[in-house]
Amino acid sequence: MSEFDFDLFVIGAGSGGVRAGRMAAAMGVRVAIAEDLHLGGTCVNVGCVPKKLFVYASHFAEEFGHATGFGWQHQQPQFDWQTLRDNKTREIERLNEVYQNMLVNAGCELIHGRATLVGPHTVSVAGRQYSAERILIAVGGWPHIPDIPGREHVISSNEAFYLEQFPQRVVVVGSGYIGVEFAGIFKGLGAETRLIYRGEQILRGFDQEVREFTATEIAKKGVQLYPNTQIEAVTKQSDGSLLLQLANGEQLTTDLVMYATGRKPKVQGLGLEGLGIAQAPNGAIVVNDQFQTSVSSVYAIGDVIDRMQLTPVALAEGTALVKSLYGDNPQQVDYELIPTAVFCQPNIGTVGLTEEQARERYAKIEVYRSNFRAMKHTLSGSEERTLMKLLVDAESRRVVGVHMVGAEAGEIIQGIAIALKAGATKEVFDATIGIHPTSAEEFVTMREPVSN
Ligand code: NDP
Repeated sequence: MSEFDFDLFVIGAGSGGVRAGRMAAAMGVRVAIAEDLHLGGTCVNVGCVPKKLFVYASHFAEEFGHATGFGWQHQQPQFDWQTLRDNKTREIERLNEVYQNMLVNAGCELIHGRATLVGPHTVSVAGRQYSAERILIAVGGWPHIPDIPGREHVISSNEAFYLEQFPQRVVVVGSGYIGVEFAGIFKGLGAETRLIYRGEQILRGFDQEVREFTATEIAKKGVQLYPNTQIEAVTKQSDGSLLLQLANGEQLTTDLVMYATGRKPKVQGLGLEGLGIAQAPNGAIVVNDQFQTSVSSVYAIGDVIDRMQLTPVALAEGTALVKSLYGDNPQQVDYELIPTAVFCQPNIGTVGLTEEQARERYAKIEVYRSNFRAMKHTLSGSEERTLMKLLVDAESRRVVGVHMVGAEAGEIIQGIAIALKAGATKEVFDATIGIHPTSAEEFVTMREPVSN
C-alpha cells in the first residue's frame, strides 16, 4: 500500500495535463487532476478551438464576394454576432463534457479548485490536502497586458470570445500570432480594424519575406496597419468609445481595444517560492530534459515551462513524460522542425528555418520561391496572392525550411513537415508528382532557385 493518496497529482486540466493524466491512468497509475476553470484549458476554452471557429466565420465575408464571379446571385448577407458567439460557446461546453468523460473513464479523480503546492509531495485544494508521489504542474499561461493608464478599459483575447456586442471599430495591439489572427477575425466579421504594433514589421521571428508578404495581404483586405506605434493611455469617453493616446502624439478613437502582447506562465499563487522551485525571469518553471523541476518529485510541462506555447507541443511533452516515468520506453521530445500555422487571411504555414536562419547556419543555400494568384481568383475577382518558399542546404541538398502564405497553408504544411522530418532532399521534392490543379503542387515544381 502506497504511503501517498495518489501516484501522480496533475495541476491543470489543459492540453498537457489531460494528456498526461489520461495516459498515466490508462497505465494503472493512480491519478488526480485539479482544475479551477473549465476542462480543456486555453486551447479548448479561449484558444485554438474557439479561435478557429471564429476564423471560419470571418472567411465567409470574402467568400460571399467571391461567389458572384462564379455566377451566384445573392442578397447582401447579414452577420449576427450573438449566433456565432453562442453556437461557439455550446460547442465549447460540449467539449468540456467530452474532456470530463475522457478523464473519468480513464480512471482519473477530478478535483475542482485552485491547487497550491505545500510540500514536495503535498498539494492543497479548497482547504483539503492531498499527497502524491509525484506532482505535475501543467497550469499553462495567461494573457499579459502592460500596465498603461486606462488598462481597465482594454480586453485580452479571453474576453473577445464572449463580447456582449460586436464592435464597429476595433484596435488590436501586438502583432504576434494572436494579434494577427484576431485582426483578421474582426475585419472579416465586419469591424473597422486597426493593428497597432511597436516594431517595424508584424510577426517577429517569422521569415522576413513571409512577414512582409503577409502584412501586404492583410492590408489589402482592409486591416489598417500601424507599425512603430505605442499606446500611452486609454480613456473612456462619455459616449462609451475609447480614446487612445499614442506615443507619437496622435489620437485614435475606437470601440474596443484588444491587447495581444504575449502570454505569461500562470504561476501566481502556486506555491513555487515556498518550495524553492526554480523559475526563469518571466516566471516560467525551469525543468531538465525529463521535465523535472529543481524539486525532484515535481514536474512541469506545457506553456508554464515556456518552451513553445503550442498545444501539440504540450501534448508531446505530456506523452514523453508519462512514457518515461511509467512505461518501459523512455522518450524525449524532439523540438526540431515543429510546424506551425497562423490563421490569418490568408493563412501562414511554416516548418523549419527562416531564410535568415538558414543563411546563418549553412555555408550555401538555395532559395526557391513562387508568388502567384491562385486559380480560384481568376474568377473570384480577389487580388489575393500566394507565396511559397523552399530553402535548401546546397551541400546536403536537404530542404531545411518551407513557408507558405496562402489558402489552407496550415493544412498543406502539415504534410510537408513529414517530408522534412524524413530528411527529404530537394531531389525528393522534384521526383514527387504534383496534384493538378492545386496550389500545393508548386512545392514539387519549383525548378530554378531564385537566389543562393
Ligand atoms: P506573441 O509572443 O506571439 O506576440 C506578442 C506581441 O506583442 C508581439 O508583437 C510583441 O512585440 C508585442 N508586445 C509584447 N510586449 C509588448 C508591450 N509591452 N507593448 C507593446 N507590444 C508588446 O504572443 P501572442 O500573445 O500573440 O501569443 C502567445 C503565444 O500563443 C504565441 O507565441 C504562440 O506560441 C501561441 N499561439 C499560437 C497560435 C497558433 O499556433 N496558431 C495561435 C495563438 C497563439 P515584439 O515582436 O516587438 O516583441
